[in-house]
Amino acid sequence: MSPRLSNMISASEALALLREGNQRFVAHQSEAVATMNPARRTELVAGQAPFAIVLGCSDSRVPAELVFDQGLGDLFVIRVAGNIVAPSQIGSVEFAAERFGTRLVVVMGHSQCGAVMATLEVVLGNATTESRNLKSIVDLVRPSIEEMLEDREETDPDVLIHEAVRANVRASVNHLRHGSELLEELIQKDGLLIVGAEYSLESGIVTFFDGVPESAKEPE
Ligand SMILES: [Zn+2]
Repeated sequence: MSPRLSNMISASEALALLREGNQRFVAHQSEAVATMNPARRTELVAGQAPFAIVLGCSDSRVPAELVFDQGLGDLFVIRVAGNIVAPSQIGSVEFAAERFGTRLVVVMGHSQCGAVMATLEVVLGNATTESRNLKSIVDLVRPSIEEMLEDREETDPDVLIHEAVRANVRASVNHLRHGSELLEELIQKDGLLIVGAEYSLESGIVTFFDGVPESAKEPE
């Protein structure tokens, strides 16, 4: 299941591994825990070669390793409320992509995201944030939600939250794709793929967004 340390796999292969892992998770057939033995731990002391980078939300219900059924050393995970992209998140992605040669980056939002819902309330004028630090998260989520709300008659809160989660993921993907010269170069010349995804708390299923190139949908 885990790729070999010395040979970094392509983005499309990595995507296939994540899809398969999520299918096992949903089917309650997870295997990764069985590979987390002392031997594997010892093997990884010498170095890591995570096959995918996941930028996800800190929400306790969305641990990337579990929902993709992966073990020690498999995923380089960055978690922050609202899966926002600030300089330290870009730096973390750059670090893994350059240092380990990891070629797939997944920005994973999720249904009922508290950070997105809080931002939506602020944008709709139903709440304010008092903490400057919390506000820094809301301010990063806010532009994509404001854009999403433009020219929209929709008032069903469930629909709005769903759309807002997706808009926020797309904004983070765009930010990563265009907010770093290093990542831009890796995308153009070295097969780096940055994709959006949404995890459903209800079903456990991770849906990868459109825009995943056809060539990346199946293993080569
Ligand atoms: Zn969240």
